[in-house]
Amino acid sequence: MNSIHTHIPGYPRVGAARELKFALEKHWKGELSEVELENTGRALRERHWAEQRAAGLDFVTVGDFAFYDHVANHMQLLGCEPARFEFHPDASPLARYFDMARGATACRCGQAHGDGHALEMTKWFDTNYHYLVPEFTAATQFALSSEHLFDEVAEAQALGHRVKAVLLGPLSFLWLGKERDDSARLALLERLLPVYGAILARLKEAGVEWVQIDEPILGLDLPSEWRNAFETSYWQLNQAGAQLLLATYFSPLEENLGLACRLPVAGLHVDGVRAAHELASVADWLPAHKVLSVGVVDGRNIWRTDLDAALARIQPLLDKRRGALWLSSSCSLLHVPYTLAPETALDAEVRNWLAFAAEKLGELQTLKLALTQPEAAAPALLASRSAIAGRRGSPRVHKAAVAERLAATAQDANADRRASPFGQRQRIQQQRLQLPAYPTTTIGSFPQTPAIRGARAAWRRGELADERYEAAMRAEIEDAIRRQEALGLDVLVHGEAERNDMVEYFGEQLEGFVFTAQGWVQSYGSRCVKPPIIFGDVERPQPMTVQWAAYAQSLSSKPVKGMLTGPVTILQWSFVRDDQPRADTTLQIALAIRDEVRDLEAAGIAIIQIDEPAVREGLPLRRSRWNEYLDWATRAFRVSAGVARDGTQIHTHMCYAEFNDILPQIAAMDADVITIETSRSAMELLKGFGAFRYPNEIGPGVYDIHSPRVPDTASIVALLQKASAVIPAERLWVNPDCGLKTRGWPETEAALRNMVSAAHVLRSETTARG
Ligand code: GLN
Ligand code: ZN
Repeated sequence: MNSIHTHIPGYPRVGAARELKFALEKHWKGELSEVELENTGRALRERHWAEQRAAGLDFVTVGDFAFYDHVANHMQLLGCEPARFEFHPDASPLARYFDMARGATACRCGQAHGDGHALEMTKWFDTNYHYLVPEFTAATQFALSSEHLFDEVAEAQALGHRVKAVLLGPLSFLWLGKERDDSARLALLERLLPVYGAILARLKEAGVEWVQIDEPILGLDLPSEWRNAFETSYWQLNQAGAQLLLATYFSPLEENLGLACRLPVAGLHVDGVRAAHELASVADWLPAHKVLSVGVVDGRNIWRTDLDAALARIQPLLDKRRGALWLSSSCSLLHVPYTLAPETALDAEVRNWLAFAAEKLGELQTLKLALTQPEAAAPALLASRSAIAGRRGSPRVHKAAVAERLAATAQDANADRRASPFGQRQRIQQQRLQLPAYPTTTIGSFPQTPAIRGARAAWRRGELADERYEAAMRAEIEDAIRRQEALGLDVLVHGEAERNDMVEYFGEQLEGFVFTAQGWVQSYGSRCVKPPIIFGDVERPQPMTVQWAAYAQSLSSKPVKGMLTGPVTILQWSFVRDDQPRADTTLQIALAIRDEVRDLEAAGIAIIQIDEPAVREGLPLRRSRWNEYLDWATRAFRVSAGVARDGTQIHTHMCYAEFNDILPQIAAMDADVITIETSRSAMELLKGFGAFRYPNEIGPGVYDIHSPRVPDTASIVALLQKASAVIPAERLWVNPDCGLKTRGWPETEAALRNMVSAAHVLRSETTARG
């Protein structure tokens, strides 16, 4: 009989009550010492291991904790903090760590050293977690330079736990970094491997039974030199004598499956959710003596596992293999909230369909029990079965009217098309809107002042009556309109004062969504997000934004944009249904937004912006699946906008990412105007627009709203002149690169004043040229 073990690739780290977040913020304010912060970290680890142990996991996972980010931990472990920081020799490791993460503050010696800007942050594969990007140069050296991991191992051992340590593998670590010169970072591997060897030897010496070594890049399209490097690297790492569990997740292995199976390691973990179809091949290819770890519990979503289906997936593996079988979550549980325990306000029926990290540990326990002592597992299996059946049959999930509308939309060749092509629409819109050349606008939100946030919090607590809250928001809208008129902007916005969050605001007004009280997930460092949960067919019971938009428009003779969040972004920033394709859920949302577009138009709104900042980040990890995604994602946008009459100008906004590789698909969305984040990589984006002629109007962000710095008029003029070299003047808009809600009013007004002056400079130049 096979031996069955349970473990998890990783656990959340910020604490169920976000203890780490609050401790970090205090520490950064100087209100909590390093020692106290370390104590918070230790207490959290202790609690998290105890939870894993209590759920009967055979190992606790050590090494997944981080004060900011686990990739940054590796930079210190491997001794490759970028030299550019020129850290003071007395700076503590923790101080250096936070300098890398957040940008250097002046050193204790009173001087700022070197180039202390923060490391770049980017998305961890296709998750909403952001890691700090390691920086390399040809001169980068490595050395075992931190005791943190070994200290944590000793901590766990002292508590009597069986330890599985976890490391990010050398190839994934290099892959996720960037060269700061023109060297090739793969060449650093030779220097890096001995340090990994030394770490593994230390872990073995410390009595660690297993080391999980994460190589999630095995699920990507790898250049051949990277693939080829795996075999030699792992032969070398194997010399250390530690038992290695090679972990892959987020994506099927495909052409790397054979390679992953034959690497000289003691076990292989695979994602049994996203790569379920590969399990049989892995079971065939993986040598019999190796451990196979199967992630059957979804680490990326919050639904209860269908345990019968999971057992049916596991059984053939057991029949096939003689070696140990480990059961696990598909990936680290970092990407889901801690526990349903505090969610007492959540709709009881929907709550019973969910499983957060703690409940997922329970599912692993039940699965193991079902395979080892079936009778003992019966009650838990029964409960699971009835929850799954309840969800499957619930009329709250499946609505006939939504299904019918979806089917009708699929049949309707015009649903995703405006009445006329862009050229014609542009003429009609010009006549209607009478905008000057280089029209100025903003992206939607204005500063969320303490007064606004205070009013909302009081209203949510029930301390501010609806009418009072509404009156306060109206006053904010009026204030925003007056300020924009004074600045001389051409297309105004209402300022989004009434919105806490661009997804939550819509989710709360749509059917098919629920919201948690404590369902926080780490986004980066101390920042956590609380994604809505889409559990059922989406419907819009009534207009969501029309009253605010109409009120704002009533205050000005200039056009005020109606402001909506697009279907792909709502999908991307929520936990989504796993019982129907993402494309279907997105289309349901698109239809709700479409109705809102129609109602805004009927209320006299001439310009409607549908924000889609998350389009790029929804791209699948494998390029072979890009087109399929882009087809339904861009169609969903077009369905939202397609109902608009020719004279209604549809805007969209995108940010956070590099767009050059998907410009044709962005163009296919056919928005009349796109405003886009460019200011941090202005030249890059403009290069893209030089190579690909974007057919409609475009507003490349002319300044970076993420910085408190006020741009001067001359620098904005210069940027616009560069832009007009690749984008014809009659299609160019002038706007900041994102919403202004995180900024204060003084800097916002100063920046916009300069932006408006810059537009005037360009207009007068054009007139002078005649
Ligand atoms: N309209 C939103 C705002 O201005 C857009 C936010 C975003 O791009 N993420 O805040
Ligand atoms: Zn933006």
